Amino acid sequence: MKDWMVDMQAAVGEERLLSDPGQVDKLSKDYYWYSPVLVPLLQDKRAEGIAVPHSVDEAAQVLASAWKHRIPVTTRGAGTGNYGQAVPLEGGIVLDLSKLDQVLEVTESYARVQAGVRLGALEKLLREEGKELRIYPSTYMKATVGGFVCGGSGGIGSITWGNLWDGNVLEAVVLTVEETPRRLTVKGDDLIAYIHNYGTTGVLVEVVIPIAAKVEWTQTVVQFDDFESAARFSHAVALDDTIRKRLVAPVEWPIPTFFKPIASKLEAGCSACLLETEHGSEGLLAAHASAAGGRIGYTIPPEQYRKVIGLSDFTWNHTTLWALKTDPTMTYLQAGFDKDRFLDQIALIKEQFGDEVLMHLEFIRTSGVVAPAALPVVRYTTHERLYEIIAYFRSIGVRINDPHTWVLEMGGRGEWDAMVNAKRANDPRGLLNPGKLQTPVESISNQEG
Ligand code: FAD
Repeated sequence: MKDWMVDMQAAVGEERLLSDPGQVDKLSKDYYWYSPVLVPLLQDKRAEGIAVPHSVDEAAQVLASAWKHRIPVTTRGAGTGNYGQAVPLEGGIVLDLSKLDQVLEVTESYARVQAGVRLGALEKLLREEGKELRIYPSTYMKATVGGFVCGGSGGIGSITWGNLWDGNVLEAVVLTVEETPRRLTVKGDDLIAYIHNYGTTGVLVEVVIPIAAKVEWTQTVVQFDDFESAARFSHAVALDDTIRKRLVAPVEWPIPTFFKPIASKLEAGCSACLLETEHGSEGLLAAHASAAGGRIGYTIPPEQYRKVIGLSDFTWNHTTLWALKTDPTMTYLQAGFDKDRFLDQIALIKEQFGDEVLMHLEFIRTSGVVAPAALPVVRYTTHERLYEIIAYFRSIGVRINDPHTWVLEMGGRGEWDAMVNAKRANDPRGLLNPGKLQTPVESISNQEG
């Protein structure tokens, strides 16, 4: 066994430094395979070992060993990220934080948790106490709080509370990678260097997130003869502040046919909007539906909430998952439409690409503004064609965060200067998830002896 592995084994204990090839392979992967571009590039990448600390001190010792032996470290939550965020490009160790899973404090307004706490477990606990998460990804049952903060963007709840950058992270306790790792407490604007950082600027071991009072939710499908009506309805509901809501997600026909567990409950040939709104808002929804020519369809009442497969399991990037299950040639884009021109932009895209691009929007409120984010489903043919489609979106003013690259600066979002500065300070040997934040890695390795 290599020296560094011996050191790390001493840090976490023999049983928690995994080197079995099957386990190492599995824990070196995320959902990168959503992208046909990334599959050939990442399928052979793996770590040399997986360290599974059970305490923050153990995690710090692993990082000290990594620093000493110059071993790359890729932090992992549940590995549900999409663009090879958690795939080690240069071997080394995967630091699996899933056993840092203690809920440390819950108050009326926030929860302080270790980074490996699963969002689904936290939501369950909070709802038992009359509270709930503000925002969470559709992968909440598996995804960890740390992984969401470092790899995600927004999700269910973002129509009310915004995305991760809208005050949905209050504090993070971060370990640095140095001879003696420091434990930083990061708050306020400084958090920008750690949100959606792919674990490149520090290892989050504790996170404080704001929470909300529990609401009784009803999930409703509203169906339309055409997607434009579904989008208009969704926009109107998204803007209607009298309706408390967590989810407003219109999908174009034939996407509903991909939703096998509920497809038989949906009207054939119809585009649909999947909603999660406060119980009691049914009348308001029905009024919006009839104004837009829609019909209320399959409904999950509060008594059935989370007892049957929920509508949020078909939204956000789960929509792509169901599409892929139906047709493995499908992939997707991450797009930001103009809040005032999105219907025109969608019409142009449909005119240009027809069914090669199927529309799927997620309405969110970010920086106080309601706008459609989108995860359109794309029938993949060639790399060249995919980038033609991306270029067209951009040419008509639609923002694309390219999900077919692991490079933060190309696909991610955030303040690069803040991330670069944090990386310089926290990771002087450039060991954290090398290759993902490309700007500083070379300059750091030039600086550091
Ligand atoms: P991982 O995949 O383990 O990690 C994500 C990134 O963060 C990696 O770069 C990793 O190195 C880093 N990281 C993890 N933990 C830490 C830590 N403690 N400190 C430092 N770095 C860390 N995303 C959304 O935002 N919204 C959605 O609705 C959504 N829906 C999805 C649906 C499907 C079906 C899939 C496959 C993905 C979806 N995603 C979504 C992406 C992903 O599931 C979420 O971002 C999720 O929160 C990631 O959590 P995780 O624990 O699996 O993170």
